[in-house]
Amino acid sequence: MAEFCLDCLNKICNANEPKRKFVMSKELYLCEECGEMKYVVICYRRNLLSSIFRRLAYWLKLFIDNLRRRTQHKKL
Ligand SMILES: [Zn+2]
Repeated sequence: MAEFCLDCLNKICNANEPKRKFVMSKELYLCEECGEMKYVVICYRRNLLSSIFRRLAYWLKLFIDNLRRRTQHKKL
């Protein structure tokens, strides 16, 4: 996988994404664009967030199903 620092990634993608949107490397790596030792982007943080949201949605669904089942029992 190619490794780029945030500056170069923004340049390549013609974007201006802030650092907090990404998971950055803990150590310095050689950026393949500018050739300097920098903290490189590991992945986009949205992937992590969406997996958390998916899990939350699943729990919420379980919770609502549970509530629905309980109210149904009360009616019977
Ligand atoms: Zn770079």
